[in-house]
Amino acid sequence: MAILVVDDLPGNRMLLKHVLEASGFEDIVLADSATEAFDVLGLSDDQTEEGRDDVQLILMDIMMPGIDGVEACRKIKTSERHRDTPVIMVTALNEVEPLENAFQAGATDYIPKPINKVELNARVHSALALKKEMEARKKREQELLEITRLLKDTNQRLRHLTTLDGLTGIPNRRRAMEYLDQEWRRSLRENASLSVAMIDVDYFKAYNDTYGHQAGDDCLWMIANCLKRSLNRPADLVARYGGEEFIAVLPRTPIDGGLVVTEAMRASVAEANVPHEASAHSDHVTISIGLASVVPGPKLTSSDLIAAADRALYDAKDKGRDQIVCSAWPEDPTAAAPLHRVSQEAAERGRP
Ligand code: GH3
Ligand code: MG
Ligand code: MG
Repeated sequence: MAILVVDDLPGNRMLLKHVLEASGFEDIVLADSATEAFDVLGLSDDQTEEGRDDVQLILMDIMMPGIDGVEACRKIKTSERHRDTPVIMVTALNEVEPLENAFQAGATDYIPKPINKVELNARVHSALALKKEMEARKKREQELLEITRLLKDTNQRLRHLTTLDGLTGIPNRRRAMEYLDQEWRRSLRENASLSVAMIDVDYFKAYNDTYGHQAGDDCLWMIANCLKRSLNRPADLVARYGGEEFIAVLPRTPIDGGLVVTEAMRASVAEANVPHEASAHSDHVTISIGLASVVPGPKLTSSDLIAAADRALYDAKDKGRDQIVCSAWPEDPTAAAPLHRVSQEAAERGRP
C-alpha cells in the first residue's frame, strides 16, 4: 500500500513524508510535479513503464508550475485505473477558488497549510477508511450481480427442464399445451391454418409384455427421435403427450402439409424396423396417427382440435393401424374458414 505525495517544494514533500512515516505508513512515493505523478501512476501519454497499481491515496499540492494540482486531479479522476483513488488537496488558506475547482475535479478532501500533524493523520485515515468501505461495497455489489446472474441461469435451466419429458428428452404435455394455446391465438389473429396430430404406438402393451418395460422405454425414446427428425420447420413441435402417445403441433400448416409431416413420422418409425413379434399388424413397431387441421374461428377452441385429432386416431386404429387418418372437422361450416375435409383416400395418397 503506497501513498503518493505530489508537491513541487522539496521541504513540503519531506515534511509530509516524515509525518506519514511517523504514523506508520511505510511506502511514501514522492513526485515533484504532476508529470512525475502521472509517470508513477502510469498515466503519461508516452509511458513505457506500467505505473504503480498499489497507490491507495494521493496528497496533491494545488499550486505547482506546469500542470497544477487541479488539472492533475482531473486527469487522475477521469482515468480508468485510478478514478477510485482518493485525492486530498494540500492548500494554502487563501486558495479558495482553486479548491472549489479541485472538488469539482473529484478531489476527496483538503488539508490546509501549514500542515497540522493531527489533522493530516485524521484526514488520511478517514480517506483510506472511506476507500476501503467503497471497495468492500463494490465487491458486495459484484457478488450480488454474480449471484443474480447465477439465479437467472438456474431458473432458466429449471424452467427448461420442467417443459421436457424425462424419458424421451422431447417437450412434455405441459409444454405442448402451452404451445398449442399460443399458436391457436396466433392462428386466430393471422387467419392461418393450424394442424395437430395425435400419435399412438400400435400394440405397445404387447411390446412391453414381450420385451420388458425397459425395452419399452427404449422403444419410446427411439420413436420420439423419429418423430422429432420428421419435423421440417423450427415452429413445428412434437411432445410426449403421456404413456405411449405423442402430439405434434404444426403452425401455419393446412391438412396437406400436415399429411406430409405425419407420413414422414409414420415412415420413419416403420423404417427403424424395430422387431415387434407380438404385433397383430406387423413384424415391427408401428404408429397410428390422427390428424386434424383448422383455421381457428371464434366458435372453436384448441381442445376441439385435439378432440378431432383424437377421433381420427381412433379411426386409424380401427382401420388397421400403421396409418394416418385426417379428421373431417369441423362439421359446422360457420365455425371456421376455410373448412378442411380430407378423405381417407387423400390420406392414403399421402403415403408412398
Ligand atoms: P393400441 O394399438 O390400440 O394402441 O394398443 P396398445 O397396447 O398400444 O394400447 P394400450 O393403451 O392398451 O397400452 C398402452 C401401453 O403402453 C400400456 C403400457 O404398458 C405402455 N406404456 C405406457 N407408458 C409407458 C412407458 O412410459 N414406458 C413403457 N415401457 N410402457 C409404457
Ligand atoms: Mg395409447
Ligand atoms: Mg398404443
